[in-house]
Amino acid sequence: MGLTMPFPKHAKLVEVSPRDGLQNETKPISTSIKIDFINRLSETGLSVIEATSFVSPKWIPQLADGCEVLQGISKKAGVSYPVLVPNVQGFENALAAGAKAIAVFTTPSEQFSQKNMHCSVSESIQHIRDIIHLAKQQHLPVRGYLSCVLGCPYEGDMPPHKVAELADQLYKMGCDEISLGDTIGIGTPLKTKKLLDVILQYVPASQLAVHFHDTYGQALVNIYVALENGISVIDSSVAGLGGCPYAKGATGNVATEDVLYLLNGMDIETGVDLKKLISAGRFISEQMGREPRSKVNRAIGLL
Ligand code: MG
Repeated sequence: MGLTMPFPKHAKLVEVSPRDGLQNETKPISTSIKIDFINRLSETGLSVIEATSFVSPKWIPQLADGCEVLQGISKKAGVSYPVLVPNVQGFENALAAGAKAIAVFTTPSEQFSQKNMHCSVSESIQHIRDIIHLAKQQHLPVRGYLSCVLGCPYEGDMPPHKVAELADQLYKMGCDEISLGDTIGIGTPLKTKKLLDVILQYVPASQLAVHFHDTYGQALVNIYVALENGISVIDSSVAGLGGCPYAKGATGNVATEDVLYLLNGMDIETGVDLKKLISAGRFISEQMGREPRSKVNRAIGLL
C-alpha cells in the first residue's frame, strides 16, 4: 500500500488515561499516585493531558478526588490539563479548582445516554449549551466528546448522518474540538471512512479528533484512515489504561505508545518521547499490578 494521500505532518496526542483510563479501572489508585502519574506524563512531551473529571462521585467514585488531583499536579508550561464536566455544577466545581480547559460529552444513542449519562440526549445537549455559555465567558476552550459513534452496546449500528448532525450541533454551539469516540471499539476502516465522509461535510477536519478503542484490534487501522482524511488529533491512553467496560478483560482505549510508534513510523511529528512514555506506562501498570496493555511497551520495555 502506498502513502498516496497527504498525511498531516504533525499530530496532537490527547492523553486520556488519568480520566478516561482511571474511571474505567476498578482498582483504587491514591490521589498521590495519580498526581505522580500525571507529572510523569507531563515530562513526555504530551501537550494535552486530560487530568480528571468533575462528575458526581456517586457515578464515578474513582475520580472523586478531581479537585485535589487538579490542584496537586505540577502544571508544565505549554501543557493543557482539561477536565470533564457533565453539567453546570461540575463546571463550577472545575472552575473553582482552577481548570483552564474543559470537556463535555454526549452521544447519538438515546439508550447509551440514559444508561451511562443518566439523562436523555436532549437533556445532555442542554447541559452542554449551558456549560459552553459559561465557559466562553471565562475564555476556556471546550472539547466535546461524542460516544458510540460507530456503534452502541444497546442500540447497535449508528447511522453516520445521525452522528454527523450531532457533531454539527456541537460545532455550532461552540465546541472548539469534537472527539469522535468508538466507545466499544467495533469500528473498522470502512465504517470509519463512511462516517468521516459524512461528518466532514459538516465539521472541518481541523476541529475533529478521533477516540478509538482497540477492543477488536482495529484502533490503529482506523486511526490511519482518520489521518488519511486530514484528522490530526488522536486520543489515546498510555498502557491502554481503562480496559473496556462492555467486554470484561478486553482492551479498551488504544495505547498511546502504539499510536506514537505508528506516527513515528509515518514521520508524523508529535513532540512526544517514546521512552519517557513507556516509562510512565510501566509506572501506572505496576500500580495496577499488571503488564502494560500496549504491544509497543511490552516489545520495547525499558531501554
Ligand atoms: Mg475511551
